[in-house]
Amino acid sequence: MKRRDFLKLSAATTGAALIPVHNLYAQDEKLSPDDPQAKALNYVEESEKEGQRCDNCVHAKGDLESEWVGCNLFPNKQVKASGWCNVWAER
Ligand code: SF4
Repeated sequence: MKRRDFLKLSAATTGAALIPVHNLYAQDEKLSPDDPQAKALNYVEESEKEGQRCDNCVHAKGDLESEWVGCNLFPNKQVKASGWCNVWAER
C-alpha cells in the first residue's frame, strides 16, 4: 500500500469511527430542568398542562414513542416525552 493510500484509508476510518460515538453521546444527553436555558423556558419533566406534552409539541423530533425525545430548541439533548416548556405549540 502506498503512503498516500494509507493516509486516505486512515482518515476515512478515523472519521467513520468518530461519527457514531458523537451521535451516541448526543442522543444520550438528557436535558436537566436545572439547565439555564431549560429554566428560562420553565421546562419541567412532568407537564401540568392538560394535553400539552413534549411528545405532541411541534418542536419535538425523533422517535416520539420514546420516553425521551429530541427538541429543536435544545440541540444535542433529549427532553422527557412527558415534559413541557412555555414554547409548547400543537403539533
Ligand atoms: S419546545 Fe418545549 S414543550 Fe416543545 S418539545 Fe421542546 S421542551 Fe418540550
